[in-house]
Amino acid sequence: MTTATAGLTRLTASELAAALAAGEVSAAEATTAHLDRIATIDDRVGAFLHVDADGALAGARDVDDRRARGEALGPLAGVPLACKDVLTQRGVPTTAGSKILEGWRPPYDATVVARLRAGGVVILGKTNMDEFAMGSSTENSAYHPTHNPWDLDRVPGGSSGGSAAAVAAFEAPLAVGTDTGGSIRQPAALCGLVGVKPTYGGVSRYGLIAFSSSLDQAGPFARTVEDAALLHAVIAGHDPLDSTSIDAPVPPVVAAARRHDVAGMRVGVVRELAGEGYQSGVEQRFREAVDLLGRLGATVVEVSCPHFGYALPAYYLIAPSECSSNLARFDAMRYGLRVGDDGVAGVEEVMSATRAAGFGAEVKRRIILGTYALSSGYYDAYYGQAQKVRTLISRDFAAAYEQVDVLVSPTTPTTAFRLGERVDDPLAMYLADLATIPANLDGGAAMSLPCGVSPADGLPVGLQIMAPALADDRLYRVGGALEAAYVEQWGGPLATKGPPL
Ligand code: GLN
Repeated sequence: MTTATAGLTRLTASELAAALAAGEVSAAEATTAHLDRIATIDDRVGAFLHVDADGALAGARDVDDRRARGEALGPLAGVPLACKDVLTQRGVPTTAGSKILEGWRPPYDATVVARLRAGGVVILGKTNMDEFAMGSSTENSAYHPTHNPWDLDRVPGGSSGGSAAAVAAFEAPLAVGTDTGGSIRQPAALCGLVGVKPTYGGVSRYGLIAFSSSLDQAGPFARTVEDAALLHAVIAGHDPLDSTSIDAPVPPVVAAARRHDVAGMRVGVVRELAGEGYQSGVEQRFREAVDLLGRLGATVVEVSCPHFGYALPAYYLIAPSECSSNLARFDAMRYGLRVGDDGVAGVEEVMSATRAAGFGAEVKRRIILGTYALSSGYYDAYYGQAQKVRTLISRDFAAAYEQVDVLVSPTTPTTAFRLGERVDDPLAMYLADLATIPANLDGGAAMSLPCGVSPADGLPVGLQIMAPALADDRLYRVGGALEAAYVEQWGGPLATKGPPL
């Protein structure tokens, strides 16, 4: 690899797209540079479960041919991307981080994947994740853990930890993740990236292996707000193949990201998402970000969302309930693993042997919890009650959005924790999503934006910005303006300054 092509992995997606459009570099060269970087570094990071070098190069050459013929190409044509292994890609192994899907090659593309391909985005491979997206550290992957590029002894967050680590380690300028309770925003915060959970229904769930269908949403990881917006615009939009897809225009996210002005915007600081449980270094960077918003011309007020304290318990009834139903399809008959099929054993024996061997401990815990919460006699007390709490949380959001345009909080209570630190303590692990879960329960849009490193440990801190459903552009407007101010302070976006790897 020449120094010139090695430098390609340091570019943001929009810088790379500009170089591609100007003919300074080919998509094949850009793809090779990233594949080389993965080959050099991924044994230490562990971001990928499967690298599709041949498929990526073929895709890149196709973009180069189309460009040579003078075809009109999308803004990200030829830019490489890492895709969470929870989205189906035709012919490419897709496991959702689980042994139960080992060896499965889906016969179809998820809509997100199809739109990436149509836009000429080059998919480098499938990234590691907590099994079926259940977790906050990527340690629940049935394959291997992923390491945080800022400190290899620490977790990258989860469940989309592989996607976050790939972008932070310069293995890809962009990645797709999914966010059910925080799985894009939390790893983005822990890895110093921009991560966005679009409005529920804004990005198609067709081909997204379901965890909790009323919460799951795919979205972008990037090093800058503009890059995230460009990717958001490629994957979003109505899809008749997903019955919960919203039939409305995609909010103008790219224009909003480029605006760099928040004058007159009203920003609400959520009183309940601070204080106890939040590290002081995280709080400090958060308060500074809020002050900066004020100096940039936003009106900052404190707002109260009194039911947010119940979001975590409500989520841990709703998400497991939906997962216990969704994961029933892994029955040893249709996909992947089959254990105990000796020609004599009955269907039920094969099914239970397969599920016992194929699912990890956290997945089993959630299935059991959800089955219990949905069982007759307990349904009203648990699932029904949690749905009522969900409604109260949405009312908190609605009342807050009568006063302000966006809400802000720290994305996570702490910076990246050490590998192994929380694996034996599910509750400590669940607390990583304290601040992110409310937006999933409501269905609105939310972003995590790097707001510096904690003075305590030098690790990235994320600012969470939340907006009402279909107002995703507000996230990009606020995020873009703040980022522009940080770039002046830091000399570039946080993710391009670090990590040291
Ligand atoms: N950490 C949360 C969980 O384990 C959220 C996961 C997600 O968003 N997929 O459920």
